[in-house]
Amino acid sequence: MSTNAAALKDQVALVTGASRGIGRAVALELASRGAHVGINYRTGEDAARSCLRAVEAAGGTGELCPFDVAEPDAPVTHIAAFAKEKGRLDILVNNAGITIDGLVLRYKEEDWQRTLEVNLGGAFRCSRAAARFMARRRYGRIVNLSSVVASMGNPGQAAYAATKAGLEGMTKALARELASRDVTVNAVAPGFIDTEMTASLPEEARAAYLAMIPLGRLGRSEEVATAVAYLCGPDASYVTGHVLAVNGGLYT
Ligand code: NAD
Repeated sequence: MSTNAAALKDQVALVTGASRGIGRAVALELASRGAHVGINYRTGEDAARSCLRAVEAAGGTGELCPFDVAEPDAPVTHIAAFAKEKGRLDILVNNAGITIDGLVLRYKEEDWQRTLEVNLGGAFRCSRAAARFMARRRYGRIVNLSSVVASMGNPGQAAYAATKAGLEGMTKALARELASRDVTVNAVAPGFIDTEMTASLPEEARAAYLAMIPLGRLGRSEEVATAVAYLCGPDASYVTGHVLAVNGGLYT
């Protein structure tokens, strides 16, 4: 938990894919700093409710905001409703992401499309919907969850890496576009973090990754969440268009 209690007091945040893993840790961290947190998810209502209970148990406030970020109209409808009801939207964390791994020669067209639609299309549409409110109020923080593989590459992850590299380009373009409205746009690029996404890695692959990580261990969701929260807070007021690596030294 943060030492920055109340740094985000009275602010409103939306975290996509917050039912578990990194998104859940981000929701908890932002709430611990005083923000009211919208917990988005597509499936896994029980997990999302458990995230909300954890937020409330820690003295924070939040609410569930279920929608599929990949559906063309869903982000605009739901984000507009959320921001209007709360009267503001200060923070958007584009965390929802999927990986459908497979070698490129056997990769299915539908898997390519789905990966693009969730990881890149979802972040684009959520950012566009949020930016409307942020630009009007001349304040906002958008943080996108990229990945070390955007820079490093990884066999079997051509589609995933392409979306994350695209997300970093989008981060830099949007940062320039929204800077005059005091809306900052940054990315956090985690390395290998211990979540359900990485739990399915075969044991040999896990051991091979561990051998490449100078800090000698997988990261924890909370270690990504504090980096995200920094970029969402007042201490990062002069940081925009940046990609912050949180990868244990795996790739610099
Ligand atoms: P996860 O699979 O544990 O959780 C992903 C979350 O996104 C879930 O809550 C899921 O319900 C949600 N989601 C998926 N599709 C969605 C959709 N269409 N609409 C709304 N929500 C949707 O993943 P994680 O490991 O916590 O990763 C979170 C983010 O961090 C992802 O963008 C991922 O690419 C990135 N990342 C993770 C790692 C890692 O090692 N775990 C490393 C680098 C980057």
